[in-house]
Amino acid sequence: MTARTALVVSAHSADFVWRCGGAIALHAQKGVAVTVVCLSYGERGESAKLWKQDGMTLEKVKVGRRLEAENAAKALGVHDIQFFDCGDYPLELDREQRFRLVDVIRKVQPDFMLSHSLEDPYNTDHPYATRVALECRMVAQAWGHNPGEKVLGAPQLYLFEPHQTEQCNWKPDTILDITDVWDRKKAAIECMEGQQHLWDYYTNVAQNRANQFRRNSGGQAGGREAKYAEAFQSIFPRTVDEL
Ligand SMILES: [Zn+2]
Repeated sequence: MTARTALVVSAHSADFVWRCGGAIALHAQKGVAVTVVCLSYGERGESAKLWKQDGMTLEKVKVGRRLEAENAAKALGVHDIQFFDCGDYPLELDREQRFRLVDVIRKVQPDFMLSHSLEDPYNTDHPYATRVALECRMVAQAWGHNPGEKVLGAPQLYLFEPHQTEQCNWKPDTILDITDVWDRKKAAIECMEGQQHLWDYYTNVAQNRANQFRRNSGGQAGGREAKYAEAFQSIFPRTVDEL
């Protein structure tokens, strides 16, 4: 059996840490090779703390954000992290950059993919990244695109948790127990020095999702113990032989 793989498409260079760092660490621990693509560094829109420092430039912010993301990826056991540097606020990919993502998808041949919610009125870069991920997934499946290459199968796309779920019309259908790897996610979160205001927030989110994991895995009748969890909304139906 060939090794399992996964692909994360992150609009900005820190998103993968808050939203699916636990899923990454957990699967890495299981031997899944996880590739992360950061479409931008979030250099303009998600680096306020860096911009408050004297003498800051766009290039300096990018270098700082890249270093943070690389350190976080190391803490999580990411197999490969790639930075597309497409620019943020707004994030935009031209045709060539989209085909670059198609190439990555075909090379990785992910068993599953992860990206943002389909809506986010606070941050339009996030749903944009998901639209691009869906579009590139579709192109990677097309026999007429670069004929001769191995075409993509049908990996699930899991949408990770946005900052304010209701406004983003995001509703989870999958809750993943990340208790075993919480220390790794915490270490990755702490690499994000530019966004310290979010550290406690995402610890609380993980604890609340763990409460729901316990409730949905049996509740008071004997739900499985979980201290930290991440939730996801899946796009495609599962194909099963039994329920
Ligand atoms: Zn972001």
